[in-house]
Amino acid sequence: MQATAIKAVHTEADSRAAALVARYAGLDGMSVLEPMVHREFPRRIGLVSSFGTESAVLLALVAEVDPSVPVIFLDTGKLFGETRRYRDQLVTRLGLAEVRIISPLPRDLATVDPNGTLWQSNHDRCCAVRKVLPLARALSGFDAWISGRKRFQGAGRSTVPTIEVEGEHIKINPLATWSKERLDEEFARRDLPRHPLEADGFLSIGCMPCTARVAPGADSRSGRWAGSTKTECGIHQPLDQALASLGEGI
Ligand code: SF4
Repeated sequence: MQATAIKAVHTEADSRAAALVARYAGLDGMSVLEPMVHREFPRRIGLVSSFGTESAVLLALVAEVDPSVPVIFLDTGKLFGETRRYRDQLVTRLGLAEVRIISPLPRDLATVDPNGTLWQSNHDRCCAVRKVLPLARALSGFDAWISGRKRFQGAGRSTVPTIEVEGEHIKINPLATWSKERLDEEFARRDLPRHPLEADGFLSIGCMPCTARVAPGADSRSGRWAGSTKTECGIHQPLDQALASLGEGI
């Protein structure tokens, strides 16, 4: 009964996404954001942002469309203080009116990562309890969410579409087709502040224990989980796969 209901919801999301792809083919940036926020998903869409090195442009575009769009920020408990301060700076600067700071539940951490050291032995399980599960809970009540993934980031992102389905949600990637040059131009045009760690060689920033400086000329995301085969935290994976490492009891 439950599986049938979930499948039906997914089928509905799939059909909706196909219609949106047909309607907005070839559009990006503001031209796709505006109709998604105002026409397609009024009050039913949110932006998920890490407030990382490239986040300011998408935050600025969303703020321009509607500063009351909910912005979901995942505070895993392992972030750089610089990221939290940069978040506060951008929220004030852009006038973002509804920032939702979400964290893992203490009871989940007590079960899965009681000492806070799980990242040393099992990245997937740590990301599942600190990122994937809190975000899944935060997205209930939304029909769609906006992400800042871009093809130029490489690895598994080189074919990211502008509109896609993720479980029961539609996911919008307004900057998917943008180049790094275009992003940098937009930073300059809007005079947006840079993440304070960028100048120090951190080109893609997540949790402190799993973020390293990037070697000159290397892929910007190569500093994430450096030395392991992991390239994504799991929030862009099917939920059942991303949570598989948690097993029973959560
Ligand atoms: S990025 Fe590292 S510290 Fe953060 S949730 Fe994932 S494994 Fe844990």
